[in-house]
This record gives sequence, structure tokens and C-alpha cells, in this order.
Amino acid sequence: MAAISEKFLPARIVYRRDISEDLFILKVDPGAPFSYLAGQYATLGVELDGQRFERAYSLCSSPYEQQLEFFVERVPEGKLSPLLHAMHAGTPVLLRRFAKGRFTLDLRSGRKNHLLLATVTGVAPYVSYVRTIYRDWKNGGAPMPGEHRLCCLQGASLAHEFAYREELEKIAAEAPWLKYVPTVSRPWDNPDWGGEVGRVDDLIRKYVDLWKLKPEETTAYLCGHPGMVENGRGILLRAGWKKDALQDEVYFQTGA
Ligand SMILES: Cc1cc2nc3c(=O)[nH]c(=O)nc-3n(C[C@H](O)[C@H](O)[C@H](O)COP(=O)(O)OP(=O)(O)OC[C@H]3O[C@@H](n4cnc5c(N)ncnc54)[C@H](O)[C@@H]3O)c2cc1C
Repeated sequence: MAAISEKFLPARIVYRRDISEDLFILKVDPGAPFSYLAGQYATLGVELDGQRFERAYSLCSSPYEQQLEFFVERVPEGKLSPLLHAMHAGTPVLLRRFAKGRFTLDLRSGRKNHLLLATVTGVAPYVSYVRTIYRDWKNGGAPMPGEHRLCCLQGASLAHEFAYREELEKIAAEAPWLKYVPTVSRPWDNPDWGGEVGRVDDLIRKYVDLWKLKPEETTAYLCGHPGMVENGRGILLRAGWKKDALQDEVYFQTGA
């Protein structure tokens, strides 16, 4: 137990919302101060029958918020995500004391545009960027050095999987520094959908042109499904992006 408390905080689920059969939002009270940067991830875990399962989850919340928020997909054959899926408000959860990751907003290179590409839950770090910047902006503080722009393209199979659509669209309607486009890859299963259709990787060129994003002025971020990340990187490299202007966060490996 001593080893556990050195490494983990006494965290607890305080909120849970189902988005679809396999997608859900969890809010966690860390139980003690937990500091992180927008774009980083936390490590959640569960002990079951003497075994501990731990996985990384990007933080959707802004560091300004007291509760930590996660957007999680249940992988039916997975070890940890089905256990998290079964949790409700009040359930204790293991939370590693330190956030990790370098998938933070690039404010050092001088590039003022940020192309944010995501599949489904891969939007999480971008929600954290946007919430943080929005709060600074509303409070009249300089949101970021210079005139930065965030342009987010998020893909999902079905329209109801865009858990943060309403929030991001509302901010985009108000803030000149944010653009947000959700796109569905199975329009035939979304008869009421009037928005963009196609996979994120198939739409990168279109939105790079539409948003007038030039490689030398734009850092591109790719987050979520490994196929989108790999294809997206290839497309951006062929369009003139240099490797150091690309950042990615791959959520899992395929074909292992
Ligand atoms: C930095 C980082 C941040 C992450 N952030 C998030 C996040 O915000 N939300 C989130 O839901 N997940 C996130 N993940 C993925 C998460 O860490 C787990 O890998 C995922 O929840 C599956 O864990 P599991 O124990 O249920 O499955 P495992 O037992 O680890 O995996 C079982 C099998 O399923 C495959 N697999 C894993 N995930 C998927 C998937 N999504 N779709 C299809 N196959 C999969 C694995 O490759 C493996 O073959 C992140 C991963 C990393 C590295």
C-alpha cells in the first residue's frame, strides 16, 4: 500500500457521461494537487485480482479546472478501458502523481498557425488547449504570444461521437482564433448529417487550402488512430511540411 500511495493519488470518479455504446466522458477528482500542461496525459489504473492495469489518457480539461476530464473509448477486448467503462461516480481509480507528454501547443517555433487533426477521442488534448486559451482570452490576458490561430479537423464514423462538438462550435463562433470542422466517415449511417463528410486524412489538403495554412507558418498535430496519424504525416510531408513542424500522439498500435 505504501508503494501505491507514493506513486498514486487517492483519485475518485466524480462524473460519468455516456456518449455512445463505447464512448464516455469521465471526470476525476485527483484527491490532491495535480499539475499539468494543456495537451499532456495522465495515467489511470485499476487493480484487479492482484494485477494492475495502467494506461495513458489525454486530459481534456484545462489546467485551470479542479477536476480532470477524460474522453475514453471502450476497447471491448482491452484490459483497462472496459474496467473504466464500468465505473460510476464514487469509484476510486489509480492516478499516477505526474502528468506526462510533450503534445503541448508549440509556442516556441514562431509558427502562428496550428493545424489540429484528430480521430474521435484524439480531440482530447485540443479541447484542453482551447479551454485554456479561451479562459485566458475571456479574462483579457494575452492568450498566447502573437496572433496564433487554431484550426481543428476531427473525424468520427458517426455524428453523435463528437462529444465536444457543441462546446467547440460555440467557442469557434465567438473566437476569431478557432476553427472547428467535424467530419463523418460513414455519411450513409448519418442521414441527418449536413456537415463535412470523409476521413480526416482525405480532407487535409482541402482544409490546408481553405484555411490558407502554409507549411512554414503552421505546426501540425495529429492525434488518435495510428492509420490517420501515419497517412496524415505522409500527406503533410509531401505538401511541404518539415518533420519538426509535425507533432503526433498515437493512441495504440495496430497489428501487433
Ligand atoms: C499518450 C496516449 C494518450 C491516450 N489518450 C487516450 C484518450 O484520451 N482516450 C482513449 O480512449 N484512449 C487513449 N489512449 C489509449 C489508451 O491508453 C489505451 O490504449 C486504450 O484505452 C486501450 O486500453 P485497453 O487496456 O482497454 O486495451 P489493451 O488491452 O491495451 O489493448 C487491447 C488491444 O486493442 C488494441 N487497441 C487499443 N486501443 C484501441 C482502439 N482505440 N481501437 C482499436 N484497437 C485498440 C491494442 O492495440 C491491443 O491490440 C491514449 C494512449 C496514449 C499512448
